[in-house]
Amino acid sequence: MHKGIAVSPGVVVGVAFRVDSVFGTGDPQPLATPGLVPAELERFERAIATSMTELDAIVIKVGQQLGAAEAEIFKTHLQIVNDQAMQAKVRALVESKSLTALSALQIVLQGYAASFARIEQDYLRERLADLRDVFSRIGSHLTVQTTTVAPSLGHDPKEGEEPIILVATEILPSQAMSLGSLPIAGIVTEAGGGTSHAAILARSRGIPAVSGVVGITAEVRSGDTIIVDGREGVVLVRPTNDETSAYRKLQREFFDLKDRLVLNRDQPAVSADGAQIELLANINNVADAQAARKVGATGVGLFRTEYLFLSHPDVPDEEEQYQHYRQVIEDSPNRVVTIRTLDLGGDKTVAYLGRRNEANPFMGWRSIRLSFEHPRLFERQIRAILRAGRHGKVSMLFPMITTLEELRHVNQLVEESRRNLRREGVPFGDDVKTGVMIEVPAAAICIDAILRETDFISVGSNDLIQYLVAADRDNPKVAHLCDPLSPAIFRVLKMVFDACQRTGTPVTVCGEMAGQPRAVLTLFGLGLRRFSMSPAFVPTIKALLGSVTIAQAERFAHQVLQLKTNEEIRAYLTARLHEVSSALEVFDSS
Ligand code: PEP
Ligand code: MG
Repeated sequence: MHKGIAVSPGVVVGVAFRVDSVFGTGDPQPLATPGLVPAELERFERAIATSMTELDAIVIKVGQQLGAAEAEIFKTHLQIVNDQAMQAKVRALVESKSLTALSALQIVLQGYAASFARIEQDYLRERLADLRDVFSRIGSHLTVQTTTVAPSLGHDPKEGEEPIILVATEILPSQAMSLGSLPIAGIVTEAGGGTSHAAILARSRGIPAVSGVVGITAEVRSGDTIIVDGREGVVLVRPTNDETSAYRKLQREFFDLKDRLVLNRDQPAVSADGAQIELLANINNVADAQAARKVGATGVGLFRTEYLFLSHPDVPDEEEQYQHYRQVIEDSPNRVVTIRTLDLGGDKTVAYLGRRNEANPFMGWRSIRLSFEHPRLFERQIRAILRAGRHGKVSMLFPMITTLEELRHVNQLVEESRRNLRREGVPFGDDVKTGVMIEVPAAAICIDAILRETDFISVGSNDLIQYLVAADRDNPKVAHLCDPLSPAIFRVLKMVFDACQRTGTPVTVCGEMAGQPRAVLTLFGLGLRRFSMSPAFVPTIKALLGSVTIAQAERFAHQVLQLKTNEEIRAYLTARLHEVSSALEVFDSS
């Protein structure tokens, strides 16, 4: 039995599938027969040629859209694809060991990674990231599917087959997108905390997940039976028959309850004494928007646009963004969508914006800071959002605002874009509200000043917590500090909510705590009425808030604010949740 961090609730028994690197499984994959070698070499040549054609086009497009310096990055990628030594190594492996070209490519990449790891130079580590990008590109042309992991899965599970549980060292943001459409029933990772991409992906799909399980990839082999308990943070590898049947029973109970809860999708979200509550969804793409409708969310409180940029072969232009946003809006519940501008950087990087090897990427050049440095890119996104604003009730949200100067600057940019669109005669939504994400403590502390110059607030508690407690949200070593059930968090949130109430400013919480029952009881008691969460949690939170009155929740919140330690708060809220709705305890992994 392994203990990790519980990041997405639920229990599942399934078959492990290991993903060890950017693509592929790490296990060498031989061809069915050595007779296939010539055809495989030909496929490799074609993949190289296609990658070069693509990169030629990207160099031109990125040059036009972003500038010559950014285009240089892809010129380097072209050189890597064209590298004769690399190609020769792949060919030699295919020929001598009858491996698939994909597998050979992966082995060559591992070789490079091993030699780079011995060299302590930032420059070379950046080059390794470029190598991974290029190898992923070539690899994607060696597979029928275009996702990074699907080819290695090899097949969709047939009826009666065990569900697949992904076991990985970590899941990169770019992979999270391609995993979105695969039949995965659980996720276990070595890296990552409660708000890592793997965790957010798992929650958005409502599948159990445990992260921070050190050593799991060394122990598990693809095909092993494995149990994931996403509530207790427990993983069992090759369980006994008794363990398997006990967990299967829990699995059935969990999914039955979930299915029953979704039946409340058409009922209004109200507390036990009739207070109106808005339950919104966090989404990344069109499929999530549809999921949000199915579970009865009344709108989208957070549309993370960076996934469009992460999954795009080059940089999406204004028209592509407009079409994408429009589609998302049309598929979203009530066409209510809050679109967040680009939140790249930190752990989410795209090659065309350049890679900077920063000692502390989360404290560095990320999010709005990066947008400011790419004014043309930023302007195109603002324009695309304003234009999409005609197709629904759309708001624009700015991440990581730290100072009032930054807020003034974005407000100015939005005004300028409105003026330009008007002058050009391009139609756009004339009632697109703009809002600020409160996720940097400096902005939370100066909330009064911010509220005077913005239409609404959305609290990004994932980041707010990591910055308040100075603990990287993706680092399992400090995950115990990134705890939403803490005195410091609730005090800061109270300050923000009170300020919003004084000024009548709408406020939402869109971090993961907005979908975690014990935290939600307190947030409701502190006066919050707008919660935005992974679609899978909407039915649970609706049921939870439907069984509590305002007076009760206010009492809980008042008491929480008197408590001094995380442990006291956790114990107190666990008892209150048990009283209010013991059936929903299984949905809390906070
Ligand atoms: C947050 O920080 O709480 C948030 C919602 O944004 P993200 O998780 O995308 O950083
Ligand atoms: Mg954030």
